[in-house]
Amino acid sequence: SDPFGGEVKPRILLMGLRRSGKSSIQKIWDFPGQIDFFDPTFDYEMIFRGTGALIFVIDSQDDYVEALSRLHLTVTRAYKVNPNINFEVFIHKVDGLSDDHKIEKQRDIHKRANDDLADAALERIHLSFYLTSIYDHSIFEAFSKVVQKLIPQLPTLENLLNIFISNSGIEKAFLFDVVSKIYIATDSSPVDMQTYELCCDMIDVVIDISCIYGLTGEEAGIPYDKESMAIIRLNNTTVMYLKEVTKFLALVCFLREESFERKGLIDYNFHCFRKAIQEVFDVRVKVQKSRKLLSQR
Ligand code: GDP
Repeated sequence: SDPFGGEVKPRILLMGLRRSGKSSIQKIWDFPGQIDFFDPTFDYEMIFRGTGALIFVIDSQDDYVEALSRLHLTVTRAYKVNPNINFEVFIHKVDGLSDDHKIEKQRDIHKRANDDLADAALERIHLSFYLTSIYDHSIFEAFSKVVQKLIPQLPTLENLLNIFISNSGIEKAFLFDVVSKIYIATDSSPVDMQTYELCCDMIDVVIDISCIYGLTGEEAGIPYDKESMAIIRLNNTTVMYLKEVTKFLALVCFLREESFERKGLIDYNFHCFRKAIQEVFDVRVKVQKSRKLLSQR
């Protein structure tokens, strides 16, 4: 079971003017079949109907007047076909901009885009904005948020994570999709970028080491299975603990060294957590299967 129940993944469309950065964003990770490019000849009706999220990429280092008018056109068209699409605007290539400059850009783009919608009496269309760059983890962080909105079980996952960490003396926990390195859920305490980056680095290390030493040669794809786990001790008395949850998901936790002394308790709680997560996704698969059967009639 994967985050989307192993069946139909909600489609994420990546759009924007030429040279805005779409292919660079896609190159960063492997997200088979879920991200599609804007093709000017496409059939709007057909594409938008099956879309969960539409990401519109705007190059923040360029003049964005044209990008904003294309954004408006795209969003209004898509909304007419499918009012349930999440509209996500990536203000991209913000590396090289100072923090003040970033905030100023975001404020300006936010205002102009919403003014355009208001002029068209379409204030009900909601746009979300993210500052992104392929040169740091901001692009993964933004993508994580986009994907999280498409997961109907998110509140349940957050709840399970909250229960798990409070019973185990853990400070922060993430549920990661190992291949794309986006986190599909975390407990309700705030996320800081540095913690998130450490998780990504840890997943890289685990996969790299497993690639070198772990492959049996039979399995295709990533060397990641039920036995996958890793412990990294940071020099500030923090421990990072990674464990396999499902074929696609890993739990990455941060905890104090003292708390890690009770590893037996943590592992027992993890066992319960893992079972609960698997049930959450199993139910989803069953519901989807019965829906499919119904719609075939
Ligand atoms: P596409 O036409 O929308 O697919 O755009 P590309 O992915 O080909 O990117 C156009 C140019 O923008 C390339 O030279 C990329 O290297 C550059 N680019 C993409 N993402 C970023 C970014 O986050 N920061 C910076 N500084 N340049 C970027």
